[in-house]
Amino acid sequence: MKILKFGGTSVKDAQRIRHMVDILIRRKEESKDEFHIVCSAMKGITDGLIELAMIAESGDTSYKERIDGIWTRQEEAVAELFAPEGLDDRAADRLGNQVLNGLASLVNELREITHGIFLVRECSPRSLDLVMSFGERMNNYLIAQYMLSLGLPSLFIDARKVVRTNASHGRAEVDFAITNSLVREFFSDSVSPGTIGVVTGFIASTERGITTTLGRNGSDYTASILGAALGARDIEIWTDVDGVLEADPRVVEGAKVIADLSIDEAMEMSYFGAEVLHPSTMLPAVETNIPIWIKNTMNPQVRGTRISRQKSTSRHAAVTGIASIPRVAMVNIIGGGMLGSKGLAGKIFSTLGKCDANIIMISQASSEHSICVVIRQEEADLAQRVLRTELDHELRVKQVQDIEVTPDLEVVSIIGGGMRGTPGVSGKLFYSLGNQGINVIAIAQGSSEMNISLVIHSRDHAKALQAIHQGFFGQEGDE
Ligand code: ASP
Ligand code: MG
Repeated sequence: MKILKFGGTSVKDAQRIRHMVDILIRRKEESKDEFHIVCSAMKGITDGLIELAMIAESGDTSYKERIDGIWTRQEEAVAELFAPEGLDDRAADRLGNQVLNGLASLVNELREITHGIFLVRECSPRSLDLVMSFGERMNNYLIAQYMLSLGLPSLFIDARKVVRTNASHGRAEVDFAITNSLVREFFSDSVSPGTIGVVTGFIASTERGITTTLGRNGSDYTASILGAALGARDIEIWTDVDGVLEADPRVVEGAKVIADLSIDEAMEMSYFGAEVLHPSTMLPAVETNIPIWIKNTMNPQVRGTRISRQKSTSRHAAVTGIASIPRVAMVNIIGGGMLGSKGLAGKIFSTLGKCDANIIMISQASSEHSICVVIRQEEADLAQRVLRTELDHELRVKQVQDIEVTPDLEVVSIIGGGMRGTPGVSGKLFYSLGNQGINVIAIAQGSSEMNISLVIHSRDHAKALQAIHQGFFGQEGDE
């Protein structure tokens, strides 16, 4: 059994849904392997739902037009999908109307909830999760109905029935013990052999039945949660790229698909903004040793990338890929009096934790003259203010001289299992950058030696990625 997950671009309208279902039909003809699918909301719908909730919260009635816009997209999709050739007009109409009624009741529910947000002028994270859930609920319902109309045995499954989380709205944590047994029970009792489960990605619920979400891009995670619970042979993430690439192809022309990626490297890549996978996706699959494939809906014959326990197949002996995180800022805590002082680092990190800043990278040289922490740009002002308050004493006694923030930076990292114990990798990295006149602002390497990260100015983004890619994968860089 396999789990196939289709992202928002792969199911963004009637044409793409039809194309996706063609892939499923072909798959069914070619192999006896059973599979279930997990789909995202149509591309843009989740963003649209968040926006309309914010508009309603601000007391602006134009949220209603936003809902009308979402409804129009549903109507258009239904009109196109349920007017199939071969069915007489009336049969097609009947089917289409039935599906429209199902979607209309969802959209009406959405209208009522948003009206509530409008009335109380408040959208809590809990309400926002409920609002966001409609994207996946509408789309998977529509897709399941369409598949049924083509004679494919399918069943719409609302993941809130089977994926159990805590109440951390916006990015809830999965209770695997309960989820695994709910998933197994549901599939063995309610999904007959040969039936394709069409499961809503992204959404889940608490013990009390309150709707939660798994974080943006969470449908990937849903797929691997289901795959692990059901003991799937493979998990396939169908998206709009040919696989995981050595570097961002929008910037680096010669970037190639990595055929096989080890799990450790993939973890480093997805954390570092490769934008391919939700960062938690790998966890359930690692434990159960299920390979994850990245495949392209628009190019289904291409093999894609396999992420598994196997070693990666890199074109370079040590480096497998290059990733970057844009829009970061560096917070620099500087002070001559920091040398040998205990507990200061602890205080800095707990303060950053208190203001909810996620630490992306840390660097401190052995002079202990400064500690530098890289966080997202939008979190930097608050972090600086709170640090100034919390370190007030240290600032007054001049143990800390200043807390500086440098904005408009970017973290670039090279990743590769083969870097461990291989000399010369950082030499090549710094040479490639230096040669192009790119200034390196800070550096970090974890002791896993799988990742060397450095901070550069945002304006050097393209130049840096190109230089590093050329250095390791370019002709003279090939090993
Ligand atoms: N629809 C959700 C999002 O846009 C989840 C997903 O697409 O995976 O984040
Ligand atoms: Mg995605």
